[in-house]
Amino acid sequence: MNGNALVVGGGIAGLAVARGLLRGGWDVQVRERSDGPPDTGGALGMWPPAMAALDHLGLGDQVRADAEERSGMSVARADGTVMARATVEPAHLVSRSALLDVLVDGVPADRLRWGEPVARADVQGHGFDVVVGADGLHSLVRGAVFPEVPEPRPLGTVAFRGSVPGPMETVTETWGSGKLFGATPLDAERTNWFAAVRTELLHGHEDLGHAATVRTLFADWHPGVGHVLDLLPDHGVDRRRLYDLPPLSSYARGKHVLIGDAAHAMAPNLGRGACEALRDAAALATALTGQPTVERALARYDRVRRRPSGRVVRASRLVNGVATARRYARVRDSALSAAGALLKARERVVRRP
Ligand SMILES: Cc1cc2nc3c(=O)[nH]c(=O)nc-3n(C[C@H](O)[C@H](O)[C@H](O)COP(=O)(O)OP(=O)(O)OC[C@H]3O[C@@H](n4cnc5c(N)ncnc54)[C@H](O)[C@@H]3O)c2cc1C
Repeated sequence: MNGNALVVGGGIAGLAVARGLLRGGWDVQVRERSDGPPDTGGALGMWPPAMAALDHLGLGDQVRADAEERSGMSVARADGTVMARATVEPAHLVSRSALLDVLVDGVPADRLRWGEPVARADVQGHGFDVVVGADGLHSLVRGAVFPEVPEPRPLGTVAFRGSVPGPMETVTETWGSGKLFGATPLDAERTNWFAAVRTELLHGHEDLGHAATVRTLFADWHPGVGHVLDLLPDHGVDRRRLYDLPPLSSYARGKHVLIGDAAHAMAPNLGRGACEALRDAAALATALTGQPTVERALARYDRVRRRPSGRVVRASRLVNGVATARRYARVRDSALSAAGALLKARERVVRRP
């Protein structure tokens, strides 16, 4: 089937579905409120199912060319003692900007309108066969079409992230009481870092800038963390409160459909939000081009994607809570040292279709 689609939001999900629909012969209009691709920086780990979705969209090799491949990670204590190591299926670490460049590249300029927010009155999408809500955590489309869905739930943690010069060979996370710090390769010359901190630990740091807050919170951690902190610039650190979305009873209603964070925003602790957005985009484009009616296509997309993405939301929430635990941090560390349990759980979630 062919038709025309309004895609609300030009992030990873919106651009990817636009690529898939254009490839399938659909007419597409993407409207993005920002003036260009978001510049939040950082590396995204693309797990095998996401790479398969990119291959399906004809973009896998372009992303591989820009990516660093890693198949191992470790979790350490704040003093540097390694609690667990795991070899997982290889993930391709790619900078968010490189991924967005690949996605933007094949969307004709007249099909992608930057600096054009969709207003609530436009959500009905008169003249379009399908309206895709790819507008992220605080989705306008979700609010308008699925008014019964509760607001995103605060996870009680705040994320900081950025990059520093210099290569990084390994993927590591360090877990302390109420906070974690991670570092991965960004590309051949830069290191990606991220931190998550329980909100209450930030009290008393309100007057500090983001970089100074991170330096203060992790000042006495092991030298691997210290090395990154020494290189931290005063500006360019992204800070945001973390939320996830309660499960929806459907991702589609009438001609409206939700993908990416609009459908299943999740804690970043499994590094899966963008991966799931790409899988949504490939599944939706396949359904819309392969099924005879929009109704059947959206029903098929919902059937294929809602349960698997919901599982990842639940697992991500669990890992967010455990990794930044305060009261049971010592018990957690012992359990992790003994079994590498959480890494294995992470791997199981990653492997499930
Ligand atoms: C700290 C952190 C680390 C992460 N690490 C990883 C990782 O390693 N791997 C991974 O897979 N995922 C990761 N994620 C998750 C990932 O960033 C998101 O899941 C992904 O960006 C979701 O893409 P999206 O297109 O659905 O939403 P978004 O990226 O939020 O894009 C939505 C777009 O819609 C636009 N928009 C909103 N409203 C309107 C409107 N009314 N009109 C027009 N445009 C609108 C917005 O401007 C935005 O550009 C991480 C997230 C965080 C916070």
